[in-house]
Amino acid sequence: MTVWILKCRDCGSEKEIDLGFNLYKIGRIYIYCEKCRKNTFHDVIKYLD
Ligand SMILES: [Zn+2]
Repeated sequence: MTVWILKCRDCGSEKEIDLGFNLYKIGRIYIYCEKCRKNTFHDVIKYLD
């Protein structure tokens, strides 16, 4: 399992997410941001093994 670090494009906050597939192929992901309290685009910053 890989832990991905994502950054919200709206507020700039970072979050971790566990996913089994490679997000670099997507480049961005549309998920919920706790700060914005809505779904926003997140850029993939890095990953932790
Ligand atoms: Zn946000």
